[in-house]
Amino acid sequence: MLEVLRRIIQEVNGARTLEAALATMVRRIRKAMKTDVCSFYLYDEELDRLVLMETIGLRSQAVRQVTLPIGEGLVGLVARREEPLNLEDAQHHPQFRYFESTGEERYSSFLGVPIIHQRRMLGVLVVQQADKRRYGEEDEAFLVTMAAQLAGVLAHALATGNLTRPSLEGQVHFKGVAASPGMAIGEAIVIAPPADLDSVPDLIPTDVDYEITRLKEAIGRVREEIRAAGERLANRISAQELALFEVYQQMLSEAALSQEVVKRIREGQWAPGALADVVKRHVQYLERVDDDYLRERAADVRDLGRRVLAHLQEETPQTPDVYPERTILVGDELSVALLGEVPRERLAGLVSVRGSSTSHVAILARAMGIPTVLGMVDLPLPRLSGAPVILDGHRGRLFVRPGPELLTHYEGLIGEEQALAEVLEHEQDLPSRTPDGHVMPLMVNTGLAVDAVASLKSRISGVGLYRTEVPFMVTERFPGEQEQTRLYRDQLESFAPLPVVMRTLDIGGDKDLPYFPIEEANPFLGWRGIRVTLDHPEVLMVQLRAMLRASQGLDNLQVLLPMVTNVDEVDVALRLLDRAILELSEEGVSVPRPPVGVMIEVPATLYQLDALATRADFFSVGSNDLTQYLLAVDRNNPRVADLYDACHPAVLTALARLAEDAHRLQVPISVCGELAGDPAGALLLMGMGFDALSMNAPSLPRVRAAIRRVPLDGAKALVEETLRLDSPGEIRRHLAERLEGWQLAHLLPPRD
Ligand code: PEP
Ligand code: MG
Repeated sequence: MLEVLRRIIQEVNGARTLEAALATMVRRIRKAMKTDVCSFYLYDEELDRLVLMETIGLRSQAVRQVTLPIGEGLVGLVARREEPLNLEDAQHHPQFRYFESTGEERYSSFLGVPIIHQRRMLGVLVVQQADKRRYGEEDEAFLVTMAAQLAGVLAHALATGNLTRPSLEGQVHFKGVAASPGMAIGEAIVIAPPADLDSVPDLIPTDVDYEITRLKEAIGRVREEIRAAGERLANRISAQELALFEVYQQMLSEAALSQEVVKRIREGQWAPGALADVVKRHVQYLERVDDDYLRERAADVRDLGRRVLAHLQEETPQTPDVYPERTILVGDELSVALLGEVPRERLAGLVSVRGSSTSHVAILARAMGIPTVLGMVDLPLPRLSGAPVILDGHRGRLFVRPGPELLTHYEGLIGEEQALAEVLEHEQDLPSRTPDGHVMPLMVNTGLAVDAVASLKSRISGVGLYRTEVPFMVTERFPGEQEQTRLYRDQLESFAPLPVVMRTLDIGGDKDLPYFPIEEANPFLGWRGIRVTLDHPEVLMVQLRAMLRASQGLDNLQVLLPMVTNVDEVDVALRLLDRAILELSEEGVSVPRPPVGVMIEVPATLYQLDALATRADFFSVGSNDLTQYLLAVDRNNPRVADLYDACHPAVLTALARLAEDAHRLQVPISVCGELAGDPAGALLLMGMGFDALSMNAPSLPRVRAAIRRVPLDGAKALVEETLRLDSPGEIRRHLAERLEGWQLAHLLPPRD
């Protein structure tokens, strides 16, 4: 059975269209279960009905014609209960419903199982038989396993538009995690990772002969590489193994791969696309055959394909010379360096398969005000290149080749958003003060050079978080003391006399330096932040010295320690700071000891506040990490992104208590995580009594507008009401309602 299952799933995965796959699947299941009928019903969310999509045994005219609501008929019952239904005499079941067009009356036995993916019911798989037959336990187990395996494939196919729901034909959209707000209409530019056969875009060749020539050259080079490798290994491996190299040469020969790829080019694919098509087809075929030797060859073919592709891509620039005016950059994983490559005025949006709303790219995208959706796991990268798209960074959606109606709708929404931005701009120079006179200091989070805009200075109380790792990420090695001094001096000078909180290097987790890779099974629970820098005092010392040196004569530096778990870490860091001050004074540079703060982001610190208060001059709450660690939800994992919410009652309770405890201890406390930049979150934090809020510059207008319209008492009441609620959903709804009451609903990002 296991073998049959494996084979069916491989066939489904390998089919060129899902419709074809489903047709094969129902036939295979019918055969494997030795039964008369096998059908597949798809749940269409728009229609809110189950639609017969494929059958073998029932009349084919009924396909896409027979539909039934959840709960109706036996199929509807399976969907509603979300459990298998096994009946020997189906026609006498009270729920039995007869559809004339199917010819179903002839079948008395029925076994139906639901197809469920990540708690969502996608459809129902049914087998039926004319004679009375009690499907056995094995049959049921087989069909349940089949449905569970099929669920992932189906979810993917639905999301990628490979299988269209009847009601949605012609309208494809993809869902991801909303990572940076805003909407954009533009052209998708796919950044393919090098030599990845699965993400080569489909392009029509402009010069077929040229494509053929460069293909042959690339193949020639790989043949040469393999010949050389064979020669190098000749004395070290057995004759049998050496024979493999001959096999590779044959695979690449004119008669084999090359001929087929050339044919595909002539059919209208450019060389990389044609190569990917042919290689993938061979791989799928080889993976299916019942022969271990041939199955292993699948890996070889893939590897050879990648090698040829790598040569082809050497000549094709991975990024276009001129980006379209409204570029929506799409990639498997977008890097910070890549963001810098597209001219800012042409970069309209970002989309990536990996990452989530608090990942580093997301944070930078927000700082730059670029609408972004990450964690779009179902995105068919190769088919997107050059496509017109609409990106909705509020709802986490990407619409591909949108129709005129949708375009008009989004043009309207974008217009409204611009109008709101203009209105809010008018009050940006007004103080961040509530109607009852409470002043809520607003600060900015920085890291990029573009953040240091002079116009901000009059609107803020300082820099609440300068992420020093950001400039470290775009260099090719650790920047030296002089280089860092210049960098920090720039920041400190730009904002002086306002305070600038500089955080010591916070690498690890999702923030890797290309020249200092950290490979770990659990990076967020591993070597991160101060744990790294205390293990490398030479790195920390250079950084501290550079910060101190840069602050000379300005005296607006404050130092912040990330990822603190134990008081010892603070003690050691303080000792290093004192040593740096001493060393500098010996060199004739005299600077006062800057205030030192501790980030509150590891839950352990919540319970050690008293001890930390004796060591730190201020606390800064990293609500992004505090949320991830309190909820045990990886902030980067799109699968659990729905669970990640700083408005979880546990997080809000912890924050309220933190503010209270810090006041008792007389230590200033601020928040620099993303919650501070959310207008509703900012009101809650103000009501809790935080002393300052630090956020990305683009969040300032909305937060300021909210603060200027809600009295402190109102914000305090909001905290009390909110803390009585039991779930993030209830809290979000309540916040939305209350903001509506204050006529601030327009400040909240639109949600579904
Ligand atoms: C946080 O954790 O909330 C924070 C501000 O730091 P980062 O997002 O850089 O981890
Ligand atoms: Mg953090």
